[in-house]
Amino acid sequence: MALMPRFAFGADEPTKKLGIALVGLGSYATNQLAPAIKKSKHWYLAGVVTGDPEKGKKWARKYGFPEKNIMGYDDMGRMADMPEIFAIYAVTPNSIHAANCIAGAKAGKHVITEKPMAISVAECDAIISACKAANVRLMVGYRLHYEPHTQEFCRLAREQVFGPFMKISASNAFDMGDPSDPADYNWRVNKKLAGGGPLMDMGVYVIQAVCMAKAEAAPVTVTAKFGEITRPRLFAQVEQSITWTMEFADGAVATCFTSYDTQVSKLMAEATHGWARLEEPAFYYDEPFLTTSQGPVDRPKVIHQVAQLDGMAEEILTGSPSLAPGEMGRRDLAIIEAIYAAANTGQRVSVKA
Ligand code: NAD
Repeated sequence: MALMPRFAFGADEPTKKLGIALVGLGSYATNQLAPAIKKSKHWYLAGVVTGDPEKGKKWARKYGFPEKNIMGYDDMGRMADMPEIFAIYAVTPNSIHAANCIAGAKAGKHVITEKPMAISVAECDAIISACKAANVRLMVGYRLHYEPHTQEFCRLAREQVFGPFMKISASNAFDMGDPSDPADYNWRVNKKLAGGGPLMDMGVYVIQAVCMAKAEAAPVTVTAKFGEITRPRLFAQVEQSITWTMEFADGAVATCFTSYDTQVSKLMAEATHGWARLEEPAFYYDEPFLTTSQGPVDRPKVIHQVAQLDGMAEEILTGSPSLAPGEMGRRDLAIIEAIYAAANTGQRVSVKA
């Protein structure tokens, strides 16, 4: 059942924009989300959660919110008394999403969390329960669901324009480099903070794309194999690369790859009567190139994060189902857990999505 919208227009009442608080002020919040909030039709930045109050003050000056709306991670309960904050957006290392989402929900705020939604199915369940108990919406920052070329790919899959896609291959990877000083290592190679390696970070886009090709069905089984570790100091805790397959109830098979050691981002989906390809960069921030067996497909160019944020605002305000709900984030963690189990055991593993 769709939740009724919770109206909380506050300080920005005349423009009827919705206040959002960013939780975590790192690279993605600074370089993509905050500028996107500024450009969006529906949102304004109403507060921040940060471990660095001085940084919070700079953000307050830059974005024009009151300093009282700067919170620490242990201090998010104060938001309950800030009606101008309508939603939170969790943008920290993966293992911290759950605590922040739950704190936001308990304060009565709608919740958007970055991908992956958390680092286990159990954590996803805890977030979903907290949001249900608080009667707030929960969405995952899967920006590509709001990107027009990707949406057209989803339509081709959903309407089986070429027949069901049966042979799929997808890769998404970036080269993390090789810092000489361990102090410069990204949290993405710290298992406690990231929950895993490139599978959690980049591979989740591959899982997303394959499920899009199957009209959001989950695979039945997976197989997987970790790649060789050639930089053992950097990859002491998480995989450097991984290949896996996803097998579906209708016999479709996807061959997948992710890595922190190379640059690739593409998807190919083949059916009896045609094919569709999202070419490099299929999953990065730029406009992806969609080509099918009928030729190139032209769709409007958007800033992914603006389209996502405005799309999500409209979903909340109209009470309509989300394109990227918490349950989808949970499905993807169930697939990730099965892939890790398959890689660790060498066995074919059933997905309990
Ligand atoms: P980042 O390292 O640049 O920022 C992380 C922020 O979290 C920092 O401000 C850091 O201070 C803060 N933080 C809070 N608690 C912390 C702790 N205990 N340890 C370390 N840092 C802590 O990372 P990022 O690239 O901005 O990624 C943040 C999240 O956004 C991740 O979940 C990532 O997967 C996601 N992300 C999504 C996209 C996308 O396209 N949707 C792109 C980049 C990142």
